[in-house]
Amino acid sequence: MTVPATTTTIPYCDVAACPAAGCDPVVCTGAGLASNDVAFARAEAAIPGGVNSSIRAFTSVGGRPYVVARAEGPYVWDVESTRYIDLVQSYGAVILGHAHPAITAAISAAASDGTSYGAPTPRETKLAEVIADRVPSCERVRLMNSGTEATSTAVRLARGVTGRDRIVTFHGNFHGATDALLAAGGSGVATLGLPGTAGVPAGAVAETLVVPYNAVPELDESVAAVIVEPVAANMGVVAPVAGFLDGLRAECDRVGALLIFDEVITGFRLDTGGAQAKYDVSPDLTTFGKVIGGGLPIGAVGGRRDVMEHLSPLGPVFHAGTLAGNPLATAAGLAALGQLTPDVYMELAANARRVAAILRDACQAAGLPARFPVVGTLFGMVAGDVPAPVDFAGAKRTDEAAYAAFFRAMLAEGVAMAPGAYEAIFVGLAHTQPVIDEIEAAASRAAPAAATRVSRAPPTG
Ligand code: PMP
Repeated sequence: MTVPATTTTIPYCDVAACPAAGCDPVVCTGAGLASNDVAFARAEAAIPGGVNSSIRAFTSVGGRPYVVARAEGPYVWDVESTRYIDLVQSYGAVILGHAHPAITAAISAAASDGTSYGAPTPRETKLAEVIADRVPSCERVRLMNSGTEATSTAVRLARGVTGRDRIVTFHGNFHGATDALLAAGGSGVATLGLPGTAGVPAGAVAETLVVPYNAVPELDESVAAVIVEPVAANMGVVAPVAGFLDGLRAECDRVGALLIFDEVITGFRLDTGGAQAKYDVSPDLTTFGKVIGGGLPIGAVGGRRDVMEHLSPLGPVFHAGTLAGNPLATAAGLAALGQLTPDVYMELAANARRVAAILRDACQAAGLPARFPVVGTLFGMVAGDVPAPVDFAGAKRTDEAAYAAFFRAMLAEGVAMAPGAYEAIFVGLAHTQPVIDEIEAAASRAAPAAATRVSRAPPTG
């Protein structure tokens, strides 16, 4: 789009104007200094699509994003000072609520000791120990910078260990923006309606086999690894059917392939020990991200000692990262995991159940067909009068236009959901009963508004 001429005079990030407007140009939030539209137009002029992660775009829900100035507890405020109850929670990276005092204190203390050294630190050892302690399959843990780096490293490690090339993934699972795993995907790729993505050479996915979720594929000796979201959370939220995860374990064992659980979302969110504890299936490798960084950039691969010791410098599979095991991210992660005692998961699950029930009842009362499948602390929305999905084909039957209508109506009522029909809805410990009551009031107004919009929409197809 063409950027309005006024953007050249937006004061935020302007060394002269910011202090006068009460904003520090160095830590610019733009608060109160620009409208969302003007701020986003300026973003579009500087950043492709105005977003640094494609899933933040409003492409599939219409309208333009709110531009966040700050957040606290269950709330985010945009640059216009509009407050939203946040059900995005950084797509699951935030679990205690925004700007939790334990986390901000840990980050501040760590920052004053320096932000990165390029040498080992006690804190990264401690975080690896905490992960290993709560997730027994992770006898060794390597820290890195993102979930994407974790899945790409796990795949490289599995190939290096087995000497095989083939990787099996599942339709509707998403493992980040890594070439070998972008043969097909959920979440952003599903939202954008892309079959995969341009820019991935055929060779990069030639050894990636994508099969239906919740059905155990028959493997052969060419398979290095099966990588799976043990609870799928990038096609809405879809639970594994009985026998799926242990069936994968048995089939991997039969052909000597490694089983990788991608617990970037489920790790330390579903349970103290992640999905593998809830379903009692032990993978060879596990990938983490999100919660273990307390809202700062992080990723990790954990797994069996004999497998993990194939990583360099002990073994031949290379991995390195300038900021890996970063002091701020490990401090934030330790602070987050310090709060996540086992009893907390009961509270999280109760919050998820309550919010899911509220949204379900509001939609039902308004005559807006929708399901809200709950798996422990996670839940999603399936808009439309369709059966509960067990795989991607089922998830794709969701009524995307109805989701968009509900999303926009909720946003207008001050509740922010993710701008994509295939994302999970994240509640955390900051979504206390009074906040949940606010969600209930908002949903009771939003659902009828969305239902009206849906019934007025011309039929598609
Ligand atoms: N795996 C899963 C299951 C994810 O949901 C995501 C991101 N949503 C990733 C991997 C990639 O993580 P990141 O965005 O930190 O690279």
